[in-house]
Amino acid sequence: MMLIACPHCGPRAHVEFDYGRTLDAILPLDAAPEQAAAVLYARDNPRGVSQELWQHTHGCRAWLVLTRHTVSHEISAVVPWVAATAAPRESGA
Ligand SMILES: [Zn+2]
Repeated sequence: MMLIACPHCGPRAHVEFDYGRTLDAILPLDAAPEQAAAVLYARDNPRGVSQELWQHTHGCRAWLVLTRHTVSHEISAVVPWVAATAAPRESGA
């Protein structure tokens, strides 16, 4: 079972959370249709470290940014979404 360490609630089973999307799939509100299509339908699905938005739906309801390896599912960081937006992005590898 994958545990996610919510910064507000502590470690919880992943079934308490809902997956949002990867950080690179966040679109600006004024995105052109071509840009939206490219981001939503033609994005990469890399093996390795990915930064993803998850919501603690059955807990504090906060949006969190998980840094997760897509193969091993190891989670190396969990930060609140607001803090993550101001932090430099990590590149996947
Ligand atoms: Zn929580």
